[in-house]
Amino acid sequence: MMKENSSPNLKFGPGGSKDYSQYFNFSDAKVISEEEGKTTYRIKGRNIQINSQPDYKEGKRRGKEDIEVHYGFEIPEEMRDFGKDKLYHITTYGCQMNEHDTETMKGLLEQMGYHSTEDRNEADLILLNTCAIRENAEDKVFGELGHLKTLKLEKPGLMLGVCGCMSQEEGVVNRIMMKHSFVDMIFGTHNIHRLPQLIQEAVFSKELVVEVWSKEGDIIENLPKKREGMRAWVNIMYGCDKFCTYCIVPFTRGKERSRRPEDVIAEVRELARQGFKEITLLGQNVNAYGKDFSDLEYTFGDLMDDMRRIDIPRIRFMTSHPRDFDDRLIEVLAKGGNLSEHIHLPVQSGSTAVLKKMSRKYTREAYLELVSKIKASIPNAVLTSDIIVGFPGETEEQFEETLSLVREVGYDMAYTFIYSPREGTPAAGMEDNVPMAVKSERLQRLNDLIKELSRKNNDSMLGQMVEVLVEGESKNNAHMLSGRSSANKLVHFEGPQEWIGSFRKVRITDTKTWYIKGDCVAEAAAVH
Ligand code: SF4
Repeated sequence: MMKENSSPNLKFGPGGSKDYSQYFNFSDAKVISEEEGKTTYRIKGRNIQINSQPDYKEGKRRGKEDIEVHYGFEIPEEMRDFGKDKLYHITTYGCQMNEHDTETMKGLLEQMGYHSTEDRNEADLILLNTCAIRENAEDKVFGELGHLKTLKLEKPGLMLGVCGCMSQEEGVVNRIMMKHSFVDMIFGTHNIHRLPQLIQEAVFSKELVVEVWSKEGDIIENLPKKREGMRAWVNIMYGCDKFCTYCIVPFTRGKERSRRPEDVIAEVRELARQGFKEITLLGQNVNAYGKDFSDLEYTFGDLMDDMRRIDIPRIRFMTSHPRDFDDRLIEVLAKGGNLSEHIHLPVQSGSTAVLKKMSRKYTREAYLELVSKIKASIPNAVLTSDIIVGFPGETEEQFEETLSLVREVGYDMAYTFIYSPREGTPAAGMEDNVPMAVKSERLQRLNDLIKELSRKNNDSMLGQMVEVLVEGESKNNAHMLSGRSSANKLVHFEGPQEWIGSFRKVRITDTKTWYIKGDCVAEAAAVH
């Protein structure tokens, strides 16, 4: 397993576009002790034990060394009852990858005897599992830390941890050390399995413990997970090697590492046995799955073909990169069965020039050709996307190319964003010459178009029959149930609560922009 050396040198320069300089003045930091690769500093009256700190240069490095897979994880014996009679609360920000990491942390904590609570006021341990993808996600976390400070003052025994992608950022860790040192633990995305030891160190030392590995670790297979509900996420790979110029993920999640197919298949089979109805295979770029195997020719298409044979009603996947979306995958998805026809295929921009600046490694034409191939082989495919407006230098014509691509593809939905620079990424150093008013106006035009297309696509479903996995009561009407179709459409219809968790055939009778309504006509077969 990879070991990280401690990093005794606090960093004094922020780098990137953001002014973090106020959080880099460590001139009054004193070294209290140095042992076993851990250094304890005293900073502004707080002892801070640094096991390892984030380092972008390391995070960016892509070495050739093989990734080992470990199957022997266990909670250290002395920590097995540590959480007895204690409660934990985890707040999760960001993507499904984070949600899934939270499931792992819950699994670890519950094996330590902790129980979960929804009420933060009664928690003995609170973790913020953070997201770094956009600046406003970070602002939310710092706002939250402000609230938690009051709670910590009222309840000094409360343990507070910050983890997830933000912890992988140098500037964020320094800011917490300087301004929010009431936090007890900061750890990153690569050492979640170390949570029991980190709790132990923070509790016994009463110091703020910082342990963020910048270099990804090996794959640890048998970490406990606490899954709830009828849908489960399964990580098939970690990290990303694409380095799109606006994106922080390759720095925070490390290099691409695929789990062995036999481990993924065994996990999905076990989830099927436990009665889960829907599995989403997760990765930052699932289409790159298997490319890192040196002893095996096995692609994401092969994995999906094996998933098709497992007796589980639905299989989804997130997220695709158009560049790696190959013919083998299209051929397998076209076989249908339990494989969802929903394909999330982020385009980001419709302009080849902007795509080049983003380093997306495909052109507008290549993307449209891929969409045509998908539509030809999978006629009922439902396409959704992620789109950024106002990337540095984006002209009106280039933005209009995005609008025309969106119209040509006819997306059912898209997550749209105004570009915001992330510290440490190449795009943060580009001249951002698009005024905010222009970006906002472009976003509005794009959203209007997507609404129009979504409504049109939904209208075309009137009278059709869809199979819905009933997830619960509708949020706004207790008499209605809601669920998702295989194509990921939100469907509302009347029915008793006993139907929750089952599949129903629903005839579409009414459509709105973001959801459809219908009448249940029959129970649907649970397994294809
Ligand atoms: S492929 Fe996705 S995760 Fe990877 S760098 Fe690009 S946007 Fe980020």
